[in-house]
Amino acid sequence: MSEPRTVTLATADHGDVTLDEPSWCIGHADHRPDDQRADILHRGPDVTLTFRGHHIADVGLVQSPFTVTDVPELSSRTPGVSVSLIGRTLDPSGLYSLAAALDGYADQLRDLADQLSTILGGSE
Ligand SMILES: [Zn+2]
Repeated sequence: MSEPRTVTLATADHGDVTLDEPSWCIGHADHRPDDQRADILHRGPDVTLTFRGHHIADVGLVQSPFTVTDVPELSSRTPGVSVSLIGRTLDPSGLYSLAAALDGYADQLRDLADQLSTILGGSE
């Protein structure tokens, strides 16, 4: 069994802070020494939705281990998935709900494609 990973980050209000680094965290390259401890954010790799070069949304794991607000959809000590499309962090239930809504949206797009094909005289 491997040792738990830790990372040490300089902060403006608590000096050097050493914390456990989750296996999914991509690191803290964007951390600045004048950041507050509460600003420390674990982030997983982004999943990016693009279409024809247009950026639509990013989603990825996040956790704020020292947040002082601990509002689950905004900043939490509990890991969640940040969804840029809605500017919120979701738990598993919220992610399943979003996926279901997107499935429904995809069905509506297919219905519109069918309707447009008919309007344009295509065979569908
Ligand atoms: Zn981290």
